[in-house]
Amino acid sequence: MICIENPDAYLPKHPVSKGFTNELGLTMVKISYCRFGTNAQPLPRKHTVLWTNSKTLIYAFRGTRRRCTGNCGTIVDGEHTSQVYDYPDRCAAYPSQLCEYIATEIDADVQEIKQERKSKRQAGGR
Ligand SMILES: [Zn+2]
Repeated sequence: MICIENPDAYLPKHPVSKGFTNELGLTMVKISYCRFGTNAQPLPRKHTVLWTNSKTLIYAFRGTRRRCTGNCGTIVDGEHTSQVYDYPDRCAAYPSQLCEYIATEIDADVQEIKQERKSKRQAGGR
């Protein structure tokens, strides 16, 4: 299971990203940190990109489902209530809400793969 994160900047346009897709079979999805926040725990709008082979993440993040287009629910008077600069000591840190979400979804994929392998063994395959 692979999940590569990089801020949504130059890398998606860099030739190495073609290798992620063509050689590793990864799919690129775009998300925003703020889409994982809540009113009680808002997160800044920081766009980022994931390359992954997790079917669950690809499905969950398809289109703009987790990409902020001004619809994340933590915007007041046209501004996000949380800004990257509010966290000068950890502005590059991954939000725990995002990490927990991704870990849970990847675990679901891993459990499915384990179950498939177990079923194949029981059916006499390898
Ligand atoms: Zn937002």
